[in-house]
Amino acid sequence: GACRDVDRALRVDFAATKALFHLPEGMIYLDGNSLGPLPKAAAARVAQTVTDEWGEMLITGWNKAGWMAQPEALADRIGRLIGAEAGHVVLGDTLSIKVYQALAAALDLNPTRRVILSDSGNFPSDLYMAEGLIGALDREHDLRTVAPEAVMDALSDDVAVLMLTQVDYRTGRLHDMAALTKAAHKRGIVTVWDLAHSAGAMPVDLARCHADFAVGCTYKYLNGGPGAPAFIYVAPRHSAGTGISRMRVGTPPVLQMAALDAAMDIWDHVDMQALRARALAFSEILIAGVEAACPDLRLASPRDPAMRGSQVSFHHPQGYAIMQALIAHGVVGDFRAPDIIRFGITPLFIDEDEIGRAIDILAAIMRDGTWDQPQFRTRAAVT
Ligand SMILES: *Cc1c(COP(=O)(O)O)cnc(C)c1O
Repeated sequence: GACRDVDRALRVDFAATKALFHLPEGMIYLDGNSLGPLPKAAAARVAQTVTDEWGEMLITGWNKAGWMAQPEALADRIGRLIGAEAGHVVLGDTLSIKVYQALAAALDLNPTRRVILSDSGNFPSDLYMAEGLIGALDREHDLRTVAPEAVMDALSDDVAVLMLTQVDYRTGRLHDMAALTKAAHKRGIVTVWDLAHSAGAMPVDLARCHADFAVGCTYKYLNGGPGAPAFIYVAPRHSAGTGISRMRVGTPPVLQMAALDAAMDIWDHVDMQALRARALAFSEILIAGVEAACPDLRLASPRDPAMRGSQVSFHHPQGYAIMQALIAHGVVGDFRAPDIIRFGITPLFIDEDEIGRAIDILAAIMRDGTWDQPQFRTRAAVT
C-alpha cells in the first residue's frame, strides 16, 4: 500500500540524485528513456581516464588501470539492478550485436527447432538482427512475430527461441517475464530478453525468472552516455565451463566505460523498488493531467500501472508537430511513427514539479493549436 511505498521511497533521496546530473537550464527532460543525461562526475572521470591513464600509462593501462577487468566489474553493478547472479553479465559492443550473440547462442541450445518467436512491437533492429542471423545460418529458420498479447498462446513446440523486448519501446507495454519464461521452458523454448527499456527503469529479476539470456544498453535509463556499451547476461546453467567472458567480442571501450562508471556510482545507491514506486506515481499524475487537459490525445500505454514500464505514450495524428512544439517550449520527449508522442519517466532526475509543468505546457500547446505551424511539421533525421 501507500505507506509501504513511502517507506521505500525514503530510502532514496531523489533531490540528492537529481543534483548529481547536469540538465540544461530551463529544460524538462522526459527523454531519459532514449538518452540519459550527463552525470556531473562523468566529465571529470572521462578527462582523468584520458590524461592520467591513456596519457601516462599507455599500454600498461590495460593492467595498471584495470581496463581489461572493467567490462565485468561494471557489468556486475548493472547486474544488481537486473537481478543477475554475480559474474554472469559482461559489457561490450552495441545492443544490436549483443542481440545477435544471444540469439545465436540460444539457437545453438535448441538445434532441432527452426522458429524464432517475437512480437510485432519489438524494436526494428532486434528483428533485423534475427533476420540477418537466419540468413547467415542458412538452415531454414523462420522469424515469427505475433501481437504482444498473443505471445503466450504462440509458444508452440516448433519454437526454438522466444526473443522479446520486455518493455515495448512505443507503448511501454510490459511483458510478464516470469510467466512467459516459465511457459516457454515448459515447451522446451529458450528465452532471450531485451532489457533496453527495463534496466534502470524498474526492478528486473533475471535469476528468479530463470531467464536464459538477456541483453540491454547503458545509454538510456542507465545514463552511460551516447555510444556507451551494451551488456549481455547468460544464465549460469548455460555458461558453466566457459564463463561470461566468452561473450566478450572486441577491445573494451575504455573512455565510454569511464563515463558509465560515474553513472553507476549513482545507481549503486538506488533502491529499485523505491524508484519504481516514484516512477509509477509520476506516470499516474502525467496520465491524469494530460487526459483531463488534452482530450485529443489518446493514451497509447496500458492504463494498468502494473502492465507499464517507465514511459507514457499518447496517440495523435499530428504527434510529430506536437512534440516539436513541446521541445521548442522546453519539454523534451520524443516521437515514434506513426503517431506516438512518448515521455520517459526517470525519477533520478525528474521531480513532481516538472511533471506538473510539462502537463501545463502541453495543455497550452493543444488548447492554442501552437503545434500547427510549418516549423514544427518539418521532420529531422533523428526524432
Ligand atoms: C534502443 C534499442 C536498441 C538499440 O540498439 P543499438 O545497437 O544501441 O542501436 C535495440 N533494441 C531495443 C529494444 C532498443 O530499445
